[in-house]
Amino acid sequence: MSESSSINIDELYVRGRPRRLTKLPTLVRAALRMVWAAARREFLWNAVSQGVGAVALAGQVLVSRELIDALLQLDDTGFGEVVPWLVALAALNAVVAFANQARIEQQVIMSELVSRHAMDQVLRAATSVDLVAFESPEFHNRLLRAQINASSRPVQMANGVLGALSALITMAGIGVALLLIEPLFLVALLAAYVPVWVATAKASRVGYRFSLEQTERDRERGYLATILARKEEAAEIRSFDLSGYLRGRYDELYRRRVLDLRAMVRRRMRLGLLGAMVTAMLNAGAIALLVWFVSSGRLELAEAGAAAGAILLFAQRLNVLASSATALYESSLFIEDFTTFVDEMPQLEAAAAGDAPPTESFGTLELNDVTFSYPSRPEPVVRGVSMRIERGQVIALVGENGSGKTTLAKLLAGLYRPSSGSISWDGVDTASFDVHALQQSVGVIFQDYAKYMLSAWANIGVGAHHRMGDLDSVLAAAERASARGFLEALPKGFDTRLGAQYFGGSDLSIGQWQRVALARAFFRDAPFLILDEPTAALDPRSEADLFDNIRDLYDGRTVLLISHRFSTVRSADRIYVLDHGQVAEQGDHDSLMAAGGLYAELFTLQANAYLGQPDEG
Ligand code: ADP
Repeated sequence: MSESSSINIDELYVRGRPRRLTKLPTLVRAALRMVWAAARREFLWNAVSQGVGAVALAGQVLVSRELIDALLQLDDTGFGEVVPWLVALAALNAVVAFANQARIEQQVIMSELVSRHAMDQVLRAATSVDLVAFESPEFHNRLLRAQINASSRPVQMANGVLGALSALITMAGIGVALLLIEPLFLVALLAAYVPVWVATAKASRVGYRFSLEQTERDRERGYLATILARKEEAAEIRSFDLSGYLRGRYDELYRRRVLDLRAMVRRRMRLGLLGAMVTAMLNAGAIALLVWFVSSGRLELAEAGAAAGAILLFAQRLNVLASSATALYESSLFIEDFTTFVDEMPQLEAAAAGDAPPTESFGTLELNDVTFSYPSRPEPVVRGVSMRIERGQVIALVGENGSGKTTLAKLLAGLYRPSSGSISWDGVDTASFDVHALQQSVGVIFQDYAKYMLSAWANIGVGAHHRMGDLDSVLAAAERASARGFLEALPKGFDTRLGAQYFGGSDLSIGQWQRVALARAFFRDAPFLILDEPTAALDPRSEADLFDNIRDLYDGRTVLLISHRFSTVRSADRIYVLDHGQVAEQGDHDSLMAAGGLYAELFTLQANAYLGQPDEG
């Protein structure tokens, strides 16, 4: 049994949620690293313009004082003394305004670049993760949160750091002045802001919790919005008159979100009010302390005046620090969510990493007592399956709907790993292989194959994208799948984009799409090919042609064919009949018919249906 199959995906994605403030420095570093990697220049612009703005602001205060001084000393000689200060004030004003503007504009680019960088990490994680992760609702929830938050939170955190730094620098200066006058004021002021910080940290957690709790519902709402506006479902939604029903569900989900949002905001407001009230009281205490010091003669009036000014400024900066710290703390909650998502994905992949398959092709492929369950349901859907496939054979898998054929195909393709039992290539357990190398050695076309809104060339070329430029081979593959004729007849031939959602695009019929998918399989150079219902949408003539020629078409490669059409599987070297996840029968067509079991029953049923004879016949 492979290690990774025992991973409980939900547990993996739920654990590691942010809880401790001690993690903050690590998270700040992670966010700054991300911003630095994505938008170094813009970050520096941001920092410099914040610094210049702060210095110019302080300069304005000084210059204003000098200006007032000069005005007070104005005499008959005219405005000579005043003009330089006026000019300086105007210049500083312009510097503050420009620094602010520059910071805002650079932030637009910074946000975009960080967003791109973060999305790149999210997409890399999402595309490298085990296929089975997509069975986990928690994975989808975390993916959505990573997508939403990855773009804005690192920037919010970087701004929080810069804001907090600039507030701290100013506070240090004022703090020293206060210390010299009366250290008690400093202590009182710092203590006064503790309630605000506690309240805002709590409010941040309330906000984060809200976002966590809404994710699943938001995802469903997003899904409904998508299908309401997408081509794939548009015809059915209209003919079943479904838009009202689906809109109703959508509206209900939105209504509940807004309801919860109101409750969350009310809670945050209560917290804010409480924090502000306690802080105001403590602040009043600091002022009362000042009054008491003056009245008791401990402080002189001039000192008290200076202290009052410093207290006001310090309190203002503490406010700025509080809001920056809130931004920092709040974004840290989301950033941890994001970083654990991104970091844990490759771990899943690493759990499966190993050697490449031993040979380019193989002699024998064996399944030994393979069992598999999906994470969402405990009972296995593939149970104790053993099979032996020799090189060059055409093997067929038949069975009723839900008997486990597609799941087995995914196991063979290395997309899922057995819960127990093993799959081996030439006697080597595939669990020891590098999962990508294994997947590349298998070509699969599933019944729900992808339709790429790309050119016809690309739709076939993606079967082996490293040699997509080999146009002759693409044409040959199209020819073999009987797709060349209709693709050449498109407005721009093979250059036509398939799908009508883009300008210049042309849609195909389902049967034509299926032939394109088959051409993709022909173009792939894997030694082992799996075709899951490859002819379900083909007309009878094309289907017959395909199966008559399958051995020539695959030319020595091993083929696993899943089909409900018994006419197409009868020529297979070996047929496996699956029933409730187990191999019920196996053999070639003649021996299975002679045995008179499930295969014979299903075959006869289908043959008679075609011939219009009673079932028992
Ligand atoms: P077949 O290809 O023979 O029609 P499948 O392999 O698709 O059968 O499905 C086998 C069984 O596994 C079915 O009972 C189906 O409901 C179940 N199943 C398929 N996919 C999933 C999934 N992603 N999660 C849970 N159960 C699944």
